Amino acid sequence: MERTFAIIKPDAVERRLTGQILGRIEGSGFTIRAMRFEHLTRADAEGFYAVHRGRPFFRALTEFMSSGPCVVLALEAPDAIRKWRDLMGATDPAKAAPGTLRKEFGSSIERNATHGSDAPETAAFELGYFFRGMDLI
Ligand code: ATP
Ligand code: MG
Repeated sequence: MERTFAIIKPDAVERRLTGQILGRIEGSGFTIRAMRFEHLTRADAEGFYAVHRGRPFFRALTEFMSSGPCVVLALEAPDAIRKWRDLMGATDPAKAAPGTLRKEFGSSIERNATHGSDAPETAAFELGYFFRGMDLI
């Protein structure tokens, strides 16, 4: 079993897609181990995306991610990190494969509906950024 960290981003929450995305998560065989609404501050978003500091899109990205509530999740499944990235699809919804969440629910490379950890080390950092051990069921 493996755990990964996921976000239903502010664009998807605002568009009332939370329920549909949670349905796709559970329908794809993930167990939700922790979940809550979180309205990130700008500093929270900057800390979370610290690896992207200095990139041209950093300012817009952290502004967007702190613009409204999101849903933060700990997901468990065999090969969860890769499996969740596959379900999300490519970063840019325009390039994402049919049937993926970003193709279906994303509206731009910035407002792309979901986030997922990209490696075991980032999953460990991101899960720890948002959840205490006690929160993980
Ligand atoms: P995420 O980390 O959100 O799961 P990702 O791993 O597919 O997405 P990253 O390269 O880590 O993509 O970029 C993080 C986020 O930054 C992307 O989800 C997207 O919202 C934004 N982003 C990435 N590249 C660009 C870009 N060229 N222009 C605008 N926003 C971008
Ligand atoms: Mg990433």
